Order: sequence, then C-alpha cells, then structure tokens
Amino acid sequence: MSGISAPRGTKDILPGEVEKWQYMEDIVRRVCARYGYREIRTPLFEHTELFQRGIGEATDIVEKEMYTFTDRGGRSITLRPEGTAPVVRAYLEHKLYGSAQPVRLFYHGPMFRYERPQAGRYRQFHQFGIEALGSQDPLMDTETILVALTIFEEMGLEGLHIEVNSMGCPRCRPMYREGLKHYLKGRLDRLCPVCRTRYELNPVRILDCKENTCREELEQVPEIGDYLCPECRDHFELVQRYLTSLGRPYSLNPRLVRGLDYYTKTVFEVIAPGMGAQRAVAGGGRYDGLAEECGGRATPAVGFAAGMDRLLLALESQGKELSLSRELDAFVAIVGDKARMMALKVAVALRDHGFRVEMETEGRSLRAQLKTADRLGAAHVIIIGEEELGRNAAVIRNMEDGGQQEVPLAQLIESPESLSLQKISG
Ligand code: AMP
Repeated sequence: MSGISAPRGTKDILPGEVEKWQYMEDIVRRVCARYGYREIRTPLFEHTELFQRGIGEATDIVEKEMYTFTDRGGRSITLRPEGTAPVVRAYLEHKLYGSAQPVRLFYHGPMFRYERPQAGRYRQFHQFGIEALGSQDPLMDTETILVALTIFEEMGLEGLHIEVNSMGCPRCRPMYREGLKHYLKGRLDRLCPVCRTRYELNPVRILDCKENTCREELEQVPEIGDYLCPECRDHFELVQRYLTSLGRPYSLNPRLVRGLDYYTKTVFEVIAPGMGAQRAVAGGGRYDGLAEECGGRATPAVGFAAGMDRLLLALESQGKELSLSRELDAFVAIVGDKARMMALKVAVALRDHGFRVEMETEGRSLRAQLKTADRLGAAHVIIIGEEELGRNAAVIRNMEDGGQQEVPLAQLIESPESLSLQKISG
C-alpha cells in the first residue's frame, strides 16, 4: 500500500474475525452474569498519576511501557495499560463502598503498552477482567479463579493449568525482601543489568527474570512461603483448600510474582498449553493496598485480567472452531429492471421480520448474483424476476442443496417465517 498502515503492534479486526471476538465477549458476559459481576466501562485514558501510584514506579509498565502525553491543557495523560487501577479509581470516586459489599465488576476493552511486538504480544491488546472490591474473604480469591476457569472452559480451551502463590502483605513481605536481598547480595555481579537495578528498587521482580544467568543464580533462592505471617499463611491455605474441595488442580509456583506492584496475598496465573513464551492467558490476585495507594479508603479486593488476543491464539492452536452463526439468511437477486422495486420491498420486509438480508444493486447477471450470494455465505437466494412477477410470485433457492421453489409474493412479504427460510445458525 502506498499510504498509511496501522501502527506497529496494533491490528484491525476485520469482519469474519470480529465474530470470534463477539463470541468470546458473549461468554464473558454470560458467565459474569451468573456469578453476579456487572459491567463497568472506564475511560481509555486516565491521569498518569493513577498508574504511577497504583501499578508502582519501579515496574516495567510504568518505567518503559506507558503511552503518556501532555494534553493541550498541560495535564499528563496515559492510555490505560491495564484495567484494575481505573476500576479502583471509579469505585472510590463514585463511593461504591456505600453499596452492598463486595462489589463485583467486570470490564473488557483495549489496553495499551509500548512493548516489543511478537506473536501474542501487542501494543494495543484486549483484556477482559473482573474485580471484586470490599472483601478480604479467601472465598473471593477462589471465586475469582473459578470465574476465569469457567469462562475459558466455556470457550472450549482444554488443558488449562493454574499456578498460585502468595505475595504476603506489608507486614511480612519486607522481611522476605530482606531475606531475598541477603541471598542476592553476593551474586549481584552475576545478575543481568536490569536485575542489578531491580535489586535496590524492587528485588522481588528478580524472581521472574527470564535471563538464563539470573535463573541459574536463583536456584537456591529463599521462598516467600517461609516468610508469610500467620494471617497470610492461613489465607493462602484456605484458598488452596477451597480449590481442592472443588476438584480444581493447581500447582504452587513460589517464583510467581506478577509484574504489578499492587498485589498482596494470593496471586495466580492461568496457563494454556502449547503457547510458548506467551503462555499466560490470564493473571490476577489480591490487591488489598491499591485503593489506599490511589488515595482512597482501605479496600480489600481481588481480581484478574485475561488477554483476549492470546485466548484466541490458544483456541486456534487447539484447533477449536468457534461456533459462529451463518452470516446471511438471504440474498435478494433481481432479474430485469422492472423487478427492482419489488426486490427492494421484499428485502425490507424480510429485514423487518428479523432476517439478515442483502440485495443486488449492481445490475449483474443472475449467474454473477448467485456467485456473489455464495461468497457472502447466504443460506438462500430469493430471485425476483420479471417473469415471476407476472404471476405475483418469487423463487427461493436453497444454497445448500440448490433446490428451488416458487412462492407467492404476498406470503414472502407478509409472513416469511411460514416459508422454509429458517435462519441457519450455530
Ligand atoms: P497483566 O495485566 O500484565 O497481568 O496481563 C494479564 C494478561 O493480559 C496476560 O496473561 C496476557 O494474556 C495479556 N497481556 C498482557 N500484555 C499483553 C500484550 N502486550 N499483548 C497481548 N496480551 C497481553
């Protein structure tokens, strides 16, 4: 193309593809409704400060991935890189703590991160997520994990795997931080440059470094499980017991720390098999300190976010056909100029009766029109021809088997549902 293409790391979702997204979104809506989660829509951009305070200054997202700009009023604005901090902001701003707790919310939409694009990693990507605000009960941590699994299973994903860990709380995590720093101190010069800077600012993030040298140095690293305070330990144990009682297998991953600073206690990831490096389709956990971090009242909360682009890749890699409905019920074909007016009437009447209908506009031969109807995936072609008009009739052609029948025009216009024009779906 001579002109302009979509920016790197973004993509168009074209008709044909978009139905798959709608299919996933429908499942998200349905499952969330069953669990009592209601949709919230927050702005695509927020004050930069929200993410700096919420996600944490020393995180990859805030340090190097945000789309931040100064607007014409001189404010620093950031395209949202994630959905949790905006939901917490909205919860506080609209005093949702005044309604029955916990408040269960879900969202879906585009997020923006300046990352190095590759398969499963984009600069504009799409997440859905849920947040349950106002409860510290470990039952809610379990519910969050269950909602994620239920959605993925209803989409048809197989072989999912849950990894869980606890990040502790402001009481016990500092002790772990110290233990970790003590262990890493003599190994600093063998860590990658990024981890060397993390050592002072955010040593826990060293645990999920992907560099081989760092991974080798971490072999004997102390585990946070040994540092948890009694409250965090009990909480984590209960979450695990609930999962077990529901027959949900999981594995403990003491290195699972997640990229955002706000997590406390439970963290988890849902892993899809066969996805290479981008194998996490969802991640989440508890973030009891985030609301205060954003300047609001203390609000325990838990949630997760799932990457829809990655879910789609995972579904496709498992050879899943998303059940999409047939695109078109009928194509109205025209034979002879005098038939144009009647064709228009028939098309409008069918649409008014709820059928999905396109009609001929280019004055092509019947043969060409049938070919077009076929390419559009039409289930039927309704042929309005001058000859049949003389008999007040039209022809319905079934595109599946090529069978044709002549029907009265009045019936086609007034009660098309009485004809064998059933919508093909599923
Ligand atoms: P996070 O918000 O980083 O916890 O990510 C939650 C989920 O969003 C991940 O498990 C991915 O499925 C998805 N995700 C995160 N970043 C990207 C990205 N740049 N491109 C595509 N999906 C992403």
